[in-house]
Amino acid sequence: MTTRELKAAFPKGSRGFRLLTPGNPKTEKGRGAGYWTFILHLAPASLSGFNVCAMATEGCKAACLNTAGRGGIMAGHGILTAADVASGIVNTIQKARIRKTKAFFAHRAEFMVWLANDIARAIRMARKAGFKPAFRLNGTSDIRWETIPCGSFPNVFKAFPDVQFYDYTKIANRRGIPANYALTFSLADGNETHARAALANGLNVAAVFSDKARVSRAISEGFLGHPVANGDDTDLRFLDPANHVIALYAKGNAKRDTSGFVVR
Ligand code: SF4
Repeated sequence: MTTRELKAAFPKGSRGFRLLTPGNPKTEKGRGAGYWTFILHLAPASLSGFNVCAMATEGCKAACLNTAGRGGIMAGHGILTAADVASGIVNTIQKARIRKTKAFFAHRAEFMVWLANDIARAIRMARKAGFKPAFRLNGTSDIRWETIPCGSFPNVFKAFPDVQFYDYTKIANRRGIPANYALTFSLADGNETHARAALANGLNVAAVFSDKARVSRAISEGFLGHPVANGDDTDLRFLDPANHVIALYAKGNAKRDTSGFVVR
């Protein structure tokens, strides 16, 4: 495929972005704190045929935010589950995420140039509107972006050193994380040992609790031997107090979790 054919297959979409999404209801809460978060959504786990979530668990795959919001609404079908998407029942948003993920693997250099172009556009847009830009590249994936060259830079973070990036991750051994990339380890069924190690190393750990009452109890009692902060007021994880458990309450498909992913 030539670059021209590739570009034609990825026309610019919402607000002129080829890859990024300029926010969702959760990230829009960050506007009150002066930030505008832009997100890259890929097709999680192996939904595209390429695995972008090396440490995904059965529980997190079933509860994944991939089918939250507009990503989970399909005319004539209702709300999509992770199982629906895995069996090929997909809406246009899911198709776009699969297309983007395939492009990331098949046309890596072009993909990273598009991503850098989208980031530059987002920075201009956010600053013009009076916000600080922030980016989540693993909106629905868990890629080691720090290892992926971006044009002539060793990674995208070095290409935009004065801009804040942040993500959740279930990969315990990510190394060489740049100062402008904040990572929060994500507790799931079967990875508690890694979560405890992350806390012992000074990182924050996000945990999904069954409901708001359970979040309140965790905040008053602590969890995994650490203080707990509410993570639902904003999505701006880089502003969280250090070495805390960050409590989120279950939404969407996570409410039906029986795997142990959700803390009850
Ligand atoms: S690792 Fe994250 S993005 Fe991947 S399937 Fe699990 S919850 Fe979804």
